[in-house]
Amino acid sequence: MTKKHYFFTYLSLNTIEMEATHTIKRTCLACGQEGAIRVSRREAAFGLVDIHQILGKQCPNCGANTFSTVQTLVNLDETLLKEWATNEDLHLTPQDEELLLADELYLNLILLALDHFSVVDQKRNILLEALCIIVYDNSLKDNSHKDEALKQRVIKALNERKAQLKLADDWIMDYIKEVVYPQLTLG
Ligand SMILES: [Zn+2]
Repeated sequence: MTKKHYFFTYLSLNTIEMEATHTIKRTCLACGQEGAIRVSRREAAFGLVDIHQILGKQCPNCGANTFSTVQTLVNLDETLLKEWATNEDLHLTPQDEELLLADELYLNLILLALDHFSVVDQKRNILLEALCIIVYDNSLKDNSHKDEALKQRVIKALNERKAQLKLADDWIMDYIKEVVYPQLTLG
C-alpha cells in the first residue's frame, strides 16, 4: 500500500515536470520568419530540446540556416537545482552557469545544495564561484545597485565554507579572487 502510494506521488510529480509550459522561439536572420516550440520547465532549464532539430535546420520560408533564438528563463527551484548539482551531464542554459546562479534569488538554494546534496565536484566549483561573483558584483565601485547586506551574508557563508572554497580555488577567475578573497577571513 505504501509502495503504491509512493509510485502515484512520483507519477504526479513527473507529470507536472513534463507539462510544456515554456516557449523557445527562433527567428530566421535572412527573412524574419518566426517559429516556436513548447517545452517543459526541465527541458528549458537544461536545454534538452534543440528547436532546430524539431523545426528543421533550414527556414521553411527561404531555406537559410541562421537563426536567432530566445527562450523564457526558468526560475530554478530545489528540484531542478538538486538534479543539476548532482548530475555532471546537465547544464543550465542559456548563459554561463555561474552568472545565472549569482543571484540573491538562488542564495538559499546554493547554500542548501552545498550543505545537503551530494554535489559533483564541477558543480560545487560553479556554486562557489557564483557566491564569489555575488560578493564581487556588490563590491564594484561603479555598481549603483550595491547591496551591502547581501554582500555581508555571502561573505559570512563563504567564511563558513572555507574547505569547499579551497577546493574550488583553481576554478575561480583571478580577477574575482583579487576583489573577494581580501574581504574573507581565510586565515
Ligand atoms: Zn527565412
